[in-house]
Amino acid sequence: MFENYKFTAAERFLRYVQIDTQSDPLSKSSPSTEKQKDLSKILAGELKQIGLNDAHMDEWAEKKVPVICFCAHVDTAPDCSGKDVKPIVHSNYQGQDIALPDDTTQVLRTVDYPYLQTQIGKDIITASGKTLLGSDDKAGVAEIMDLANFLMTNKNVKHGEIKILFTPDEEVGRGTEKVDLKKLGANFAYTLDGGDAGNLEDETFSADAVEVIIHGVIAHPGYAKGKMINAMKIAGEILAALPKDRLSPESTEGKRGFIHPVRIEGIAEKCTVDFIIRDFETKGLQKKEDYLRTQIEELMRLYPRASFEYNVKEQYRNMKEVLLLHPQVVDHAKEAIKRASLKVKTESIRGGTDGSRLSFMGLPCPNLFAGEQAIHSKLEFISVQDMNKAVETMVHLVSIWQEKS
Ligand SMILES: [Zn+2]
Repeated sequence: MFENYKFTAAERFLRYVQIDTQSDPLSKSSPSTEKQKDLSKILAGELKQIGLNDAHMDEWAEKKVPVICFCAHVDTAPDCSGKDVKPIVHSNYQGQDIALPDDTTQVLRTVDYPYLQTQIGKDIITASGKTLLGSDDKAGVAEIMDLANFLMTNKNVKHGEIKILFTPDEEVGRGTEKVDLKKLGANFAYTLDGGDAGNLEDETFSADAVEVIIHGVIAHPGYAKGKMINAMKIAGEILAALPKDRLSPESTEGKRGFIHPVRIEGIAEKCTVDFIIRDFETKGLQKKEDYLRTQIEELMRLYPRASFEYNVKEQYRNMKEVLLLHPQVVDHAKEAIKRASLKVKTESIRGGTDGSRLSFMGLPCPNLFAGEQAIHSKLEFISVQDMNKAVETMVHLVSIWQEKS
C-alpha cells in the first residue's frame, strides 16, 4: 500500500517545529498565546493545498461507517523554550551518543534513552541543544497532515468520513475548552500524541486541582508580637509536611498517584498554594484530597486566628471508563498497529491527554503513538521512520473501520 508513496510527515515536521507555539499556563486568553495561531493558519492553508476544503468525501457512502476524528495539539510545553527551534536530522543513526551542537552539555545518551537502540539505521531528528524539539505534538500534527495527503493521493483506499482536529493549549490543560463536538460531528477519535512505535494508550490519570488559600493575620512588623500570623510561613509548613518518600511525582511510578504542589504565591497576609492531585481511580483521588485537607486542618489548629480555603476543581477523568463501553475503538487500533507490522503495547498515561476530556465529553478517544521521545526537554527526539509508521497505522485504521462497519 505504501511502496510508491513518498511520506511527507518528516518534511512537514521540520517546518512546523520552527514555528514557536508555546502555550502559557498563566494566560487567561484563548488561545493562551496568539502565536499558536501562526501554525494553525499554515495548517489550514496546507490542507487546502492537499485538496481539502472541508471536503466531504462521500464516495464510499454505500456503507454506514462511523465518522473518525484524528486530533493533535499545536502548542508546545511551557517547561522549556520553543523559540528558534533548530531541528537537526541525524541520518542513518548508528547507536552513538549524540551531543547537541548549541549546548554540548546536552547529550542524548543511549543509557538514558534505551529506545535509541531500536532506532539504529533510522533517521533521528533532535533539536540543537537550546530548546525543546516540539515533537509533542507537532509530530502528531505532521502525521495527520500526511494522512490527509495520503488519502487524497491514494483514492483506492476505502474509508468513511474523517475529521481532523488541531487544538491549542493542550499543555496547559485547556485543549478542549472551545471544541464544539456537535460541529465536529465525529463518533470516535484518536489523539496522535504518544511515544514508541506500536504504543496505544487507553488509560490516563484522573485529575483534580486543589487551590489552598491561607489567610494569615497582618500587623505592623514593629508591633506584631503575639498578633501577626504569616500566611507564607504556614504555606511553608504545609509543603514541608508532605511525605517525602511517597505520594509525590518524584517518588512514584506505574499505577501510583500523587499530591503535587505546582505553584505558590503570596504575602504575609494571604498565601495561595496550587496543587494537582492524580490517581488512576476517582476514589483514590478523593482519598488523596481528604488526606491533604486533614493535614492542613491539623496544622491550622496551631493558628486558631488564621483560616484557610480548600477549593477542589475537576480537571479530567481516566478515559478507560468510557472506552470500555466502546471496545471496538481500541480493538481496531490494535489491529491497525499490527497491520503496520508493529507490536502493540498498551500503556497507561501518567498524565492526561485531550482524549481524556474528549472521552468524557462524549467522544471516546484513546491515544496512538506519534514517535515522540524525551518530551518537554532539550533532549527530545523522534525518528522519521516512526513518524511514517504512525501515518501507516492511521491509514490501516480508517480502512479497518470501513471493513468492519
Ligand atoms: Zn502532547
